[in-house]
Amino acid sequence: LLTVRNLHKAYGPKKVLKGVDLDVPAGTVTAMIGPSGSGKTTFLRSLNALEIPELGIVSIDQVSVDYGASPKKPALRQLRAQSGMVFQSHNLFPHRTVLENIIEGPVYAKGIDKTNATEQAHEYLKQVGLSEFADRYPGQLSGGQQQRVGIARALALEPKLLLFDEPTSALDPETVGDVLGVMRDLAEQGWTIVVVTHEIAFARDIADQVLFLDEGVVAERGSAADVLDTPSNPRTRQFLGRVL
Ligand code: ATP
Repeated sequence: LLTVRNLHKAYGPKKVLKGVDLDVPAGTVTAMIGPSGSGKTTFLRSLNALEIPELGIVSIDQVSVDYGASPKKPALRQLRAQSGMVFQSHNLFPHRTVLENIIEGPVYAKGIDKTNATEQAHEYLKQVGLSEFADRYPGQLSGGQQQRVGIARALALEPKLLLFDEPTSALDPETVGDVLGVMRDLAEQGWTIVVVTHEIAFARDIADQVLFLDEGVVAERGSAADVLDTPSNPRTRQFLGRVL
């Protein structure tokens, strides 16, 4: 479903991604781990054109963008619409209710009529376990609940692929489990997921493949068991030794 070839991204003189490749089959979960500053967030944002790499090809389903060929805005918009991104902090509109936050994208970006969007939003809220919270404001919810609204909002755009950037790292420990639980449900339902995470146990549990990114290159990749339990690269071993 997702193919990435030879992705390169620099900020000024600083090379952050130095030729990253990735293949993600439909219905699988890919976890990306690596030290701070290794380029994980930059990589994820490049998948949906929030960052514009200098070089490389990203294809999601039928949409392909060749960053090296100066792609135009409509092509980038098309690529962006293929994936739903859940950020470290959810960026909900504080003065809109949970329901209004979720229907914003479908109604204003996709032109879906409000009645239909509302009906669907209730389904997505049910999916993340927040049916009772439609009329609350984000400030009335816990961090974990807000993050689950963020997930419902991403689902409402009906993307082909879900991208999670450290979705639990800003949360109180007691709400982390609920968010991971929702992600596990989505994986079981067959969603294709790429997640940047420091939750190694979670990655071991749900990931079909794990990538270890180090200084802008994929230093190791394989099944969760291979990479996390019997890493062959000394840098992976060192990293896991620090975070486990
Ligand atoms: P972390 O785990 O800390 O989030 P990361 O692996 O996600 O790290 P990135 O956020 O992708 O790493 O950042 C990679 C490098 O690029 C870092 O050195 C960072 O300082 C730099 N960087 C990221 N965004 C920008 C930017 N907009 N302008 C300049 N440098 C940036």
